[in-house]
Amino acid sequence: MNYIYSIISTGKNFYGDTDPVALAEEFGTPLYVYNENILRKRCRDLKGLISYDKFVVNYSPKANSNLELLKIIRDEGLRADAMSPGEIFLNLKAGYQPGEILYICNNVGEDEFLYAIQSGVNISVDSLSQLEMFGKLNPGGEVAFRLNPGVGAGHHEKVRTAGSKTKFGIEMKLVPHVKKLLKEYNLKLIGINQHIGSLFLTGEAYLRSTVNILKVAREFEELEFIDLGGGFGIPYKKQAKEERLDLRDLGKKLSDRIAKWTAGYGKKIEFMIEPGRYIVAESSILLGRVNAVKSNYGIKYIGTDIGFNVLVRPAMYDSHHDIEIYRKEGEPSDHEETVRIVGNICETGDIIAKDRKLPELFEKDIIGILDSGAYGFSMSSNYNNRLRPAEVLVEANGNCRLIRRRDTLEDLAGKFVE
Ligand SMILES: *Cc1c(COP(=O)(O)O)cnc(C)c1O
Repeated sequence: MNYIYSIISTGKNFYGDTDPVALAEEFGTPLYVYNENILRKRCRDLKGLISYDKFVVNYSPKANSNLELLKIIRDEGLRADAMSPGEIFLNLKAGYQPGEILYICNNVGEDEFLYAIQSGVNISVDSLSQLEMFGKLNPGGEVAFRLNPGVGAGHHEKVRTAGSKTKFGIEMKLVPHVKKLLKEYNLKLIGINQHIGSLFLTGEAYLRSTVNILKVAREFEELEFIDLGGGFGIPYKKQAKEERLDLRDLGKKLSDRIAKWTAGYGKKIEFMIEPGRYIVAESSILLGRVNAVKSNYGIKYIGTDIGFNVLVRPAMYDSHHDIEIYRKEGEPSDHEETVRIVGNICETGDIIAKDRKLPELFEKDIIGILDSGAYGFSMSSNYNNRLRPAEVLVEANGNCRLIRRRDTLEDLAGKFVE
């Protein structure tokens, strides 16, 4: 087995006692491979972000909700967010108590509210309209609201979730209306949360956004928590030595602000963050197989079995993922060339990497798409009636085990009603 081009995974001993070609042969491709050690390390990084004894990290499972991974994350002492009844359900299955789950919902119906209320999870609402609906369903209850602090961040306009160009949160100028509704329905405001966007690599906007939420929070006396949001980025361009987010610096500045605020508020409440990507992204490499190599009008295409039904980020957000190459035997790749790596879906936009300089690729090569653990499997679909891939975990002891089986053809027909 040759690791043709594999600086990152080799450096991390990503595959433990096994190797990517053996995994592809045993489990088939495409295949999401996770590394438990890396997952645990990332949980610990963020648990240690802030020095404050009531600091809580809520993992946001929309980045990846494999039940086995949720159990590991829970074992590391993280709590959980949920964005849907399904995520509440899976968090409970992973062993969380309802009180450890914060349901941050957006435009939900009465049924969903009732499911959440009956589950006993904490609930944050996203508009005055939803606060009113909640108040009618659960008068006298406890509730939090999501603030739009007027500052956004993120790698793409689709994932900037605060500021003036997004559907999320309640504007600061509407806070008096929040108070009125709280009174009208005798609700207790237990928390304020925000989430400004996904994938920042400098802490500047995140820090700036805390000013406003802390100011608003001072106006409420019975708060139990303030949730500053997720969005912590990871370097997707590791082969080009992209720098990591400086957690030490960000953590220190956040700790200072929290200490100051707490002194003014007069009591120690919980401070939360809600990361998804940072926890899981780097714990996975997606393996695929090269099925065809061809030239079309001057562009060299590497045709793989990783369609955008398997990993949609490049097609949806123009995201970059580093790529490694593994080969069972034979051919060295002694020259580099610029290629377009594509999948097997019937759309021209089905591109994994647009113009990427890589060592020469051949049919039957295995490619590894790095940092695919966040918004990878969780956004996969059966588009083109393709099967969603299997997921395997390289455990801390180096062993490998299946943690989700591949779809079968029968699964495709399974939900039709005759
Ligand atoms: C998606 C989401 C997160 C997690 O975002 P990451 O960028 O993956 O850290 C946190 N909070 C809310 C409300 C979200 O919607």
